[in-house]
Amino acid sequence: MGGDQMEEEYPFSSEEQEEMFAEALLEYLARKNPNPERIGCPDTNIIRDIAFHRKVAPELCKEVLDHIWECSECACDTIEYVEEYKKTKSE
Ligand SMILES: [Zn+2]
Repeated sequence: MGGDQMEEEYPFSSEEQEEMFAEALLEYLARKNPNPERIGCPDTNIIRDIAFHRKVAPELCKEVLDHIWECSECACDTIEYVEEYKKTKSE
């Protein structure tokens, strides 16, 4: 009963599609808000930890993710770290 419902509500039909969406979003953000002086940027190690699915304090994680929405430089870094993470996963 209602077992199929979750699939319908889930916006992506596969993990791959979800990943593609995340990448497209990051690429969009990477051009949207240039911040060459990197004002207000968090430590890139934290961005890396998030991209690598490591444990990051939830408040800190939220702060950094909020920042990425407004900072192309950090969005770029995130793309690079995600690529790096994918490589380590496929090895
Ligand atoms: Zn930034």
